[in-house]
Amino acid sequence: MTAGALQLLVLEGDGIGPEITAATLAVLRAAADRFGLNLAFPRADIGWVAHRATGTTFPDAVYDQAKAADGVILGPVSHNEYPPRTEGGLNPSGELRKRLDLYANIRPARSREGFPPRCGVPVDLVVVRENTEGFYADRSMHVGPGEFMPTPDLALAMRKITRNGSTRIAEAAFKLARQRRRKVTCVHKANVLRVSDGLYLECTRAVAAQYPDVAYEERIIDAMAALLVRDAAQFDVIVTTNMYGDILSDEASEIAGSLGLAASLNAGAEHGVAQAQHGSAPDIAGKNVANPSSLIGSVAMLLAWLGERRNDSALAGAAQAIEAALDRVIADPKTRTPDMGGALGTDAFAAAVAAAISR
Ligand code: NAD
Repeated sequence: MTAGALQLLVLEGDGIGPEITAATLAVLRAAADRFGLNLAFPRADIGWVAHRATGTTFPDAVYDQAKAADGVILGPVSHNEYPPRTEGGLNPSGELRKRLDLYANIRPARSREGFPPRCGVPVDLVVVRENTEGFYADRSMHVGPGEFMPTPDLALAMRKITRNGSTRIAEAAFKLARQRRRKVTCVHKANVLRVSDGLYLECTRAVAAQYPDVAYEERIIDAMAALLVRDAAQFDVIVTTNMYGDILSDEASEIAGSLGLAASLNAGAEHGVAQAQHGSAPDIAGKNVANPSSLIGSVAMLLAWLGERRNDSALAGAAQAIEAALDRVIADPKTRTPDMGGALGTDAFAAAVAAAISR
């Protein structure tokens, strides 16, 4: 490790993870050169590689490294294929979110200049998704999983909604809206889940009352899914619970252009983890065709988050330069990956983004 360097722990993950993290590091190195950033990239194994070596997909030592790092770059993981937890199949993403208390999952969906959005209208919105509770069985309980099977023919799942969790995610959304177009849409299903989404809604309304300068509206989740397709341009910041946010953000990213463009940051009070919105894409793994924009954009978000916390204009500048380079490269049909209708490989795309930063 380089003394005094900002430590960004790299966890490649499964499937396309190694390809898109290599591409992302190439871009980061170009940004570090241009802005004089002192970055170090310690690495650790998670996922199937770690399972083969240690019997678990998320060794405790990796958690310790993540906790000690200044930030984490997390590749996608194939957790749907992992063995049960009792056989070492832990979801590294869920573990990090829970144990580092990364309560806000910030998921922008932005159309890129020159690249056609799916539904005709350019999109520029951010889904602010609660990240530590809700229906997620691997992170909502103190001990034991949030779902269980009393009989072979009966499966039950617990959904956790807390006043603290709902309030702090709403605060994150309203703060973000003040830096954007000052509009927050709260998405819920309190018409049916009257108690749990009712509590969530009560908390969001209380926070909304403290931000009279931010326009506030509410939408029911099923209608929201349709409204995004109809006219996503009307939305600015969308705040919602864990599972609704997971689903809506993939939908919004695809509407904005492609899931391969979908960046995200997991942020708490102390820690930040850059992580693409999508999964490990086993169907295209190892083919050098994955679009690394999602992870590259996630790392730009991490640099911006670090820059704001440290009042460091070089980090903020690097974040902006990466985003601007992505815009320039994606605008040119000749420098697009196959998911965007182009023919460039993952590594060649990254080289084009790195070159655009250096110019
Ligand atoms: P997926 O997101 O991996 O893939 C969905 C579709 O999008 C596939 O056609 C894939 O080829 C495409 N795609 C995804 N990322 C792309 C990229 N960067 N460039 C081009 N195309 C891309 O979803 P899935 O296939 O349902 O899940 C695969 C595995 O990923 C599962 O084990 C699942 O549990 C896991 N998963 C992990 C995460 C995560 O690590 N955060 C998130 C979602 C799913």
